[in-house]
Amino acid sequence: MEELKDEVIVCKDCGKEFTFTVRDQEFYKEKGFEHKPVRCRECRQKRKAERAEAKKNETNEA
Ligand SMILES: [Zn+2]
Repeated sequence: MEELKDEVIVCKDCGKEFTFTVRDQEFYKEKGFEHKPVRCRECRQKRKAERAEAKKNETNEA
């Protein structure tokens, strides 16, 4: 079994370093994600919120 270690990744959006923790890695593995995250938690949440907002606007149009 390979040993997981915390990994430091530079966020694609804000350029800040964030930690891809062992716990996160296990979660990704469990989900079958093959890619590492490219954005920090903050940016991911921001994008998620923006997408949710966009979706909401779409639905309201009808
Ligand atoms: Zn970021």
